[in-house]
Amino acid sequence: MAECIFCKIVAKELPSRLVYEDDDIIAFNDLNARAPLHVLVVPRRHVERLSDLDDAALAGKLALAAARIARDAGHGDNFRLVVNNGAGAGQSVFHLHFHVLGGRQFTWPPG
Ligand code: 5GP
Ligand code: ZN
Repeated sequence: MAECIFCKIVAKELPSRLVYEDDDIIAFNDLNARAPLHVLVVPRRHVERLSDLDDAALAGKLALAAARIARDAGHGDNFRLVVNNGAGAGQSVFHLHFHVLGGRQFTWPPG
């Protein structure tokens, strides 16, 4: 997707602070961090949103990478995993991403 910023980050055409990468996924720090730990875990291939994902193995890799990133950052016991699916749910970048947030107290319900 030519105009997708996360595809450009995947292609290294845009800079990011990489946290993890493998053949299927990459993870990088959110530009506008909402917590001391705020990492975006992203499939390399362009999928608009979670409800378009039909690959259970990829979904599992994203979730496991998110948990591992939280653990490696020292927040394995208390972290939040967020997927905003659709504009009405707060999605602003239409390339699937899991937010991994940690390092502060979280409230419930989310806003
Ligand atoms: P959404 O609102 O779609 O769930 O989350 C999009 C996230 O992407 C936001 O938290 C926003 O700060 C982050 N973001 C937007 N553009 C960039 C960028 O160019 N680089 C990085 N690292 N994060 C970005
Ligand atoms: Zn994309």
